Amino acid sequence: MNNPGSRRPPGRNDLVAAQQRRVTTIAGWLGSVLRIVEFNGNRTHDMIWQHLRGHHDQITKFQRSITRERLSHAYLFVGPSGIGKRTFARRLAQCLLCFNIPDEQLDACGSCVACKQMAAGTHPDFIEIGCPEGKKELPIGLIAGEKESGVRKKEGLCYEMSLRPMEGDRKIAIIDDTELMNDEGANALLKTLEEPPSYGTLFLISASTEGLLPTIRSRCQEVRFAPLSPTDTAELLLELGMVQETAEAESIAVLCEGSLTTAAQLLEPELRNLRNRLYDELAKGRAMNTVRLSAQIAEGLDALVEDLDGTERTAVLRRNALWLIRFSIEFFRQVSLRIAGGRHAPIPQLERFGNGLIGEPEDDLETVMQLFDRCEHAQFHLEQFMQVPLCLDGMFSELARISRRQLARTS
Ligand SMILES: [Zn+2]
Repeated sequence: MNNPGSRRPPGRNDLVAAQQRRVTTIAGWLGSVLRIVEFNGNRTHDMIWQHLRGHHDQITKFQRSITRERLSHAYLFVGPSGIGKRTFARRLAQCLLCFNIPDEQLDACGSCVACKQMAAGTHPDFIEIGCPEGKKELPIGLIAGEKESGVRKKEGLCYEMSLRPMEGDRKIAIIDDTELMNDEGANALLKTLEEPPSYGTLFLISASTEGLLPTIRSRCQEVRFAPLSPTDTAELLLELGMVQETAEAESIAVLCEGSLTTAAQLLEPELRNLRNRLYDELAKGRAMNTVRLSAQIAEGLDALVEDLDGTERTAVLRRNALWLIRFSIEFFRQVSLRIAGGRHAPIPQLERFGNGLIGEPEDDLETVMQLFDRCEHAQFHLEQFMQVPLCLDGMFSELARISRRQLARTS
């Protein structure tokens, strides 16, 4: 998404890329229509893994390593945030600590002392650290202990790992948000990674490898995690109660690209309100009022960043503006599903917009594709750092122009 190096108008290659994206998008639309009939019924894993979404290859990989007695002392889990890397690491830790089930089965009984302690978060041989809420850096104190009169206290992850296990023959640590570790923290951790205790296994979790010291990376086995599939994401959103309606869950699942962190952002009430206002205006079809829409959106976007300043304000404003464009893309994707007779989100504005269609599926789809293209164009420009108001206003007036020309008059 971010490509700060290139600030230029779209050239031929970009148009070709946009065309390819369009083909991919159409394939994606067809995919969502097909997914309506096909249900992912492939869940074969054992007890502890049965409710985990996706990541089946990684389970198999660990099972194989353990069977061959090749479990490493340190792993680096890499993948977008909000896809279940930490949950995976915790379950893996429980499998390795469980007293009742042999390691090579990679499962946990759920009833032994170790399993109960894991569930209660009190296992003495399991350590987990991560960046506390509101902090931008993983505090060094959690890694190497706080300083007292210039000396680090005997505490923190590295110290804990140096002590022998209390209950079994293993000690396991999870370091979440590894990408937020500063150099001092990384260097402290490096000592543990360079001379790992025989009983220890570390799982480092990171959203990306950018910013990680090469010395850290080279001492860990890297395991890549892919975003969740839209089906898994939608099911999880419902299961976790983040969304109540199936169609809404499917819609958010497409937008959040397999990350529950992104889904949570999209479900923030303020952003949802803004999405509603946007849909209200899009639904008016040829009667769309771009001046009113631009003003409402600008006001809403400002309200969302009123507590922020400086670069953070600019970044969040841009992120939210991008979401509005993607909401518009999603709106027209849903319209196309409706035209194609597929199941679509029960959005009232969608029905209102539908009343303005002329009723010939092919022509209507063509119109919707044009509207969709304008939104994609705007997305491209915003990603190239075009100014937010300029980009959104331009998109709204283009959408209004196409709607006036190609949608029917509604009474
Ligand atoms: Zn157990």
